[in-house]
Amino acid sequence: MAVGRFAPSPTGDLHLGNLRTALVAWLFARSAGSSFLVRMEDLDRVQASADHERSQLADLAALGLDWDGEVVRQSERFDRYEAAIAQLDAAGLTYPCSCTRREIREAASAPHGDPVPDGAYPGTCRDLTDAERRAQAASGRPLALRLRGPGTTVTVHDDLLGEVSALVDDVVLRRNDGVPAYNLAVVVDDAAQGVEQVVRADDLASSAPRQRHLAELLGLPPVAYAHVPLVLGPTGQRLAKRDGAVTLADQQRLGRTPPDVCGVLAHSLGLLAAPEPCTPAELVAAFDPARLARTPWQLTAPDLAPTCP
Ligand code: GLU
Repeated sequence: MAVGRFAPSPTGDLHLGNLRTALVAWLFARSAGSSFLVRMEDLDRVQASADHERSQLADLAALGLDWDGEVVRQSERFDRYEAAIAQLDAAGLTYPCSCTRREIREAASAPHGDPVPDGAYPGTCRDLTDAERRAQAASGRPLALRLRGPGTTVTVHDDLLGEVSALVDDVVLRRNDGVPAYNLAVVVDDAAQGVEQVVRADDLASSAPRQRHLAELLGLPPVAYAHVPLVLGPTGQRLAKRDGAVTLADQQRLGRTPPDVCGVLAHSLGLLAAPEPCTPAELVAAFDPARLARTPWQLTAPDLAPTCP
C-alpha cells in the first residue's frame, strides 16, 4: 500500500505524455489497493487557471482515472509553505539572494574557483558580510530566499531508474516575487497529504535528491520514487502542442475514443501486447511495474495526424 498522486500544473491542457504519467501513477496506487490523490500545482498564478484545472480533471475522468478526496490547490496553501520556511530559517539554514538568472549564469561560468555543475547556484550571496547584507537589503532588488544546501551529492532509489544521484545545492525556497518555490511546496504537500509514492515524468528525476534532502531537514518522512520516461514528438523533442493532436480532445477529433487512447498509452508502456481499446480499471489486475517501458516513447506523425478537412 502506497498512497499515490498526480500533481499537474494547470497551465494548459494535459497532453498524451501527462495522461500517460497519470495512468502509471494511478496504476501503481490502485494495483496496491491504495488511495490516489490529485493536486493542482498552481503556484504560477500568471499561467495557471481554473479553466485549465477543469479541463485537466475532465480529461482524467474521461480516460477513466478517478481520485480520492478533494483536489488540493497549492495556491491555497501558502501558510504551510511559509511555516516550513520559518522552520528552516530558525535552524539558520536560509539566506536572502539578490542574484538575477543572468548573474548566476555568469558567476557559474567564471573561469576561477571550483567548477559548478550546470544550473547549480554558485553561492554568490551565501556568505555575505553584515555590511554586504545591509547593502543587499537596501538595494531595492527583489530578494529570493535560498537554502544553505549541503553542497554534496545525495542519492535516492527510484523504482524504475535505480539509483539517482544529484548535487544538492542552495535551492530557492521562496522566489523573488514572494511565491514559494516548487521543490519546497512539493515536499510540504506530499508529506501533508500522506503521499508515499511519487510517480512522475523523468525530467524531474534530478529534483528527487533535493526534495529528499529538504524532507529530511523538515523532519518529514521520505517518499518512494518512480520516474517514467518522457514522451517525445515525431522530431525526437519533448512532446509539445505544435506536434499536432496531442490532447485527449484533439485525439477525439481524430475519431479516437478515450478507451482507444488508453489502449495506445498502455501499449506504449509495455502493459498491453497491442494497442487495443481498454479502460485503466482493466489494466489493474495485470499491472506489474517490472514490465514498464524504460525508454522514452516517440510518437509518429500518424499518431498525431491533424484532422482531415
Ligand atoms: N507539477 C509538476 C508538473 O506538472 C509535477 C511535479 C511533481 O510531480 O512533483 O510537471
